[in-house]
Amino acid sequence: MRLLLLSDIHSNLEALEACLAAAPAHDRVVNLGDVVGYNASPNEVCERVRALGGVVVRGNHDRACAGLSDLSEFNLVAAMSARWTQTMLQPEHTDWLRDLPQGPLWEEDLPGLEFVHGSPRDEDEYLLTAPSALLDFGLCGHSNVIFFGHTHLQGGFVYKAGRTQYFTPSYSGGKGVIESQMTLVPGERYLINPGSVGQPRDNEWRAAFALYERDGDAPPTVTFYRVPYDVQQAQARVLAANLPERLAIRLALGR
Ligand code: ZN
Repeated sequence: MRLLLLSDIHSNLEALEACLAAAPAHDRVVNLGDVVGYNASPNEVCERVRALGGVVVRGNHDRACAGLSDLSEFNLVAAMSARWTQTMLQPEHTDWLRDLPQGPLWEEDLPGLEFVHGSPRDEDEYLLTAPSALLDFGLCGHSNVIFFGHTHLQGGFVYKAGRTQYFTPSYSGGKGVIESQMTLVPGERYLINPGSVGQPRDNEWRAAFALYERDGDAPPTVTFYRVPYDVQQAQARVLAANLPERLAIRLALGR
């Protein structure tokens, strides 16, 4: 059983297409939210994500762009892009975003797995530190593996022997598609972020995603990926849409 894990696509069509082209065969897609916001292809990305099916958790940008929350908690650039997105979205996509379920989500046939945007406690929480991760481990007794997004940082936390440790994937370099696999140790618990497809912030511009694989009695694995994409085209779309220049610049910097 293989799950393709996508998060924080943020209306970046070029990055999404590159990830889907690089993704290995999978049984289901799990999307951890923030389908829209920031970048310039909201309708194209909504269409593609809806066609993929699977599980979609709503993100804070999905909520704001669908008009479910005001923009007072957004910084200026995020608010400008949310307003632009609201005016551009086709009504059917706005309706779809508005109806997305708030996390945490569980699937009956995927026992032990949980899917959230920010954290199990709060869809808007940035899960950045071991102490806050520890609180989430304490809360979610029935999930061994919690997949989250929102921070745009690939990696996560492992809870073992009463301690929480932060980890990031270790890649062995390379310029094209790179991947890094970890085995999930039975008895340990994990909070795992596949990284951001459309606006990575870990000083690496390549689009991020992950694959969860469970096969019989073998311990499950998670493989992290980074995928080059046509970043100039994504930047050109941002600028052509008169979105803030900062949103184009940051794509090439990966932060
Ligand atoms: Zn996001």
